[in-house]
Amino acid sequence: MALLSIVLPSYNEEQNIANTAKVLSEMMEQEQIDYELIFVSDGSKDNTYQEILKAAADNPHVKGAEFSRNFGKEAGIFAGLSLALGDAVVVMDCDLQHPPQVILEMWKLWQEGYEVVEGIKTSRGKESIAHKMSAGLFYKIMSKLIKMDMNASSDYKLLDRKVVDVLLELPEKNTFFRALTFWAGFRTTTVEYEVQERMYGQSKWSVISLMKYAITNATSFSTLPLQLVTVMGMVSILFSIILAVQTMFKYLTGNAVEGFTTVILLVLIIGGFIMLSLGIIGHYIARIYEEVKGRPRYIISKVTDNVMGNAIGRG
Ligand code: UDP
Ligand code: MG
Repeated sequence: MALLSIVLPSYNEEQNIANTAKVLSEMMEQEQIDYELIFVSDGSKDNTYQEILKAAADNPHVKGAEFSRNFGKEAGIFAGLSLALGDAVVVMDCDLQHPPQVILEMWKLWQEGYEVVEGIKTSRGKESIAHKMSAGLFYKIMSKLIKMDMNASSDYKLLDRKVVDVLLELPEKNTFFRALTFWAGFRTTTVEYEVQERMYGQSKWSVISLMKYAITNATSFSTLPLQLVTVMGMVSILFSIILAVQTMFKYLTGNAVEGFTTVILLVLIIGGFIMLSLGIIGHYIARIYEEVKGRPRYIISKVTDNVMGNAIGRG
């Protein structure tokens, strides 16, 4: 019988673990699907890991790991993927904002032979306007950069074992899970779902962390910002040619250029261009620096007893 792994990255979710484990396991047992639940506590500062241990003691299908510190959701997802033994793996939030019934649809589609089932949001649920706008802008830019519609996409998806293995073999550390499955290809389909309200606890995203996430992911997936530097250079060259011709003309006709103002403006504009360009290039160098160091994406400090010993460590 095929095994379904459900990966649940969890950061400070002590209120959610028990309930989520119960809801999912009841559903799996009712549908008679062989399953495992993998909770990855992302260096939680509350009792998330203790809750995972409790859930694992009650139900042998529950597995868990704890990071040595907070490494971010992306790391949690990848740790979960590497611990998963399933023939198909579902990644979902552990706050049940991703409605669990959708797993059954995904599972059915997987049985029909699809290798990637993307969860597509029909509504973003209740979010603050600032959050909505920054997320909206982010996905617009992202969609342009990576040439796929990211607005409705989410981390809620089912992956076939083949796809999981491909993702785990990628050498890079700065990944963007949501877009990587598009990049990987395979036989893909989508299911729609409505984002639910969070039942317990609160969202971990602030506007600032969301913007940071946006910039990191945009640059990890595209080099278009670098080409922007070239465009800025071309614009200034064009501008300077026009200005040079005009200045020479004035000089030759005997009207010496009056402008201190012009000089100051030019210095400021060009200075701005140069600093912006350096910033963009610097950002990419920073990413290269991080990748070259080759540090692990996460460090696992603890795992539940039912996780195989060789799974402990780094990834
Ligand atoms: N999460 C995580 N590490 C983090 C932040 C969040 O593993 O550093 C998990 C979190 O526990 C949840 C999921 O990622 O299961 C989505 O986070 P959240 O619900 O805060 O985001 P939102 O649903 O508001 O986008
Ligand atoms: Mg959530």
